[in-house]
Parts: sequence; structure tokens; C-alpha cells
Amino acid sequence: MPPITKRVSLVLYSLQGISAIKRPMSDSLPLPQNTWPELHPGWVWLCGAGPGDPGLLTLHGLNALRQADVVVYDALVGEDILSWAGDAELIYAGKRGGKPSAKQRDISLHLVELARAGKRVLRLKGGDPFVFGRGGEEAQTLVQHGVPIRIIPGISAGIGGLAYAGIPVTHRDVNQSVTFVTGHDQTGDAPGSLDWSAIAQGSQVIVIYMGMKHIAQIVQRLIAAGRSPSEPLAFVTSATLEHQNVVESTLGTAVDDAKAAGVEPPAIICIGRSVLMRQVLDWRSLEAGAAPRNLDPLDRGRPAESA
Ligand code: SAH
Repeated sequence: MPPITKRVSLVLYSLQGISAIKRPMSDSLPLPQNTWPELHPGWVWLCGAGPGDPGLLTLHGLNALRQADVVVYDALVGEDILSWAGDAELIYAGKRGGKPSAKQRDISLHLVELARAGKRVLRLKGGDPFVFGRGGEEAQTLVQHGVPIRIIPGISAGIGGLAYAGIPVTHRDVNQSVTFVTGHDQTGDAPGSLDWSAIAQGSQVIVIYMGMKHIAQIVQRLIAAGRSPSEPLAFVTSATLEHQNVVESTLGTAVDDAKAAGVEPPAIICIGRSVLMRQVLDWRSLEAGAAPRNLDPLDRGRPAESA
């Protein structure tokens, strides 16, 4: 017989299962039964918050928010998620939104200081902390200063954001590989340090983070290296949020289409035929009552389930 507290929460879970799906999350709800790790004083956990929709935070992330004394968060972390931090101190360390930008070194050293002051520190970053998020640098500095860490992965925009747009980042009929690229190099400037010709020739599907600033240069290099101007391309802005916007385009018309549609960062850019799958998998439009635009966008001429 489980102890009373356990029995109560078991009942709660089974009730949750049959009640309305869009139930507001409450702080009083327990995490599911598991041995959740403890965030000890003096530790820093680096955690991915996912691409935006608060429901894409992991349970480890929620467990961390419930224990943290201080949460150091980035620009792309949503307010809903921060509101789950209880009375933890919230420190903004982002680089957007008109607020002064914090230097990477300063952020890392601030984390060291907070840990040394005996705080339970949660470093919360958009998407996954190790995908174009400088999480590796921060974690390295912490370890170099003897601060114990834990890494909590998150859903990266280049995978989860595309999924919310109805674009499978791999699809058997399209690609057996995918290339994730940043449109900024080390200096935050032109993407000159990448071999775009090799990327053009070797990548079946290309997913570009931070690509808006240099989009003209990027598409021009890909076309010059042999990619077809008619190749499908999609811009996904504010992916996974209510106001998510998707602009379908092609390599050749991307710059004009982005301008005409007013595409603004943050945007994830996907180049490849998997973009076509959105014609059947744009589940948000389906959810809103639209009919699928095309049940067989890759012209397979056969049901998808056949071998
Ligand atoms: N660590 C993050 C990426 C940080 S780099 C991750 O794993 O997702 C920041 C870039 O990520 C943005 O410029 C944009 O290209 C992309 N991005 C992050 N969140 C996004 C969102 N909700 N919608 C569209 N692009 C997003």
C-alpha cells in the first residue's frame, strides 16, 4: 500500500488524464513520480527552455525552476516559464529587446559568483543550451572555476520550431542528413568562416539559425554553389508561440519574399524539399479547421505507410 501522499498524487494523475486537456499548470501540482535530482546550493544547472511554447520545457527544467534561488535567463525565454520560478530572483542576461547586452565573459563569471555565494543557480537559455547558445562556454568556465554543474537539454528551435510549422527536419523521402548552420560567425558578422560551397553540395536539408541579417549573402552563395533557385525554403518566426508565422518561399525568391512579408528575427530558416511536407503537415492550420492543401506533396503517388 503506497503512503497516503503517494496515493493522493496517484489519484490526481488519473483525474488529470480525464479532465480537460488545456488545464492551467499550477504550482501545487506535483511532478510525476520520479527521483528528481536536487539542485544544491553552490551548483549551477544550465537548462534549455525550448523554443517558446512553455509546454516544451522539460520536466527536469520544471524541477529546476521549482528549486532555484536565482534564475539567469536569456531573451528568448518566455514569461510563462519564468513565472514558474516562484519567488526566485530573476536576472536578465539576454542580448535583445533594447536592453543593454551582457558580455559573455561577464555572464559566465556572474554565474560563478552566484554559485560561490551559495545560491542554487538556474541558467535558463532558449532552445537547447548547447545549440548555438554558448552553453558550452559557460559550462566550461564554471567547471574551470570548480563550480559543479548539470546540463538539462532543451528542444532546439531548428527541430521543434520546424515541427510546429509542419516541417519534419528529416523525412525518409527527402533526407538522410541535416545540416544546422549559424548565419553569424564568431564575430557576429558575415558568415565568412563557413565553406558554403561544401554545405551547398553536401547537405540535403539546411537549417539556419540567426540567418536573417545575412540572408541575401547566404542564398546567393548557395545558388552560386549549385543549389537550385527553385528549391523550397521556409522562414519560421516566433516558432511554437501563438503568433508563430511561416513564410514559404524558394532560394531564388527568399530575400524578396522575406521583405514583402516583413520577416523579422528571431527566425529559423529551412532549405530543402522537406518544406513541401508542410502542405500536408501544417497541423496548426488543420487544428484551426483548414483542409490539408496537398495530401501527397512529394508526388510519391502511393500511401505513405507502404514500404
Ligand atoms: N539555443 C537555441 C538557439 C539560440 S541562437 C536553440 O537551440 O534553439 C538564436 C536563434 O535561434 C535565433 O536567431 C533564431 O534563428 C533561432 N530561434 C530560437 N528560438 C526561435 C523561435 N521561437 N522562432 C524562430 N527562431 C528561433
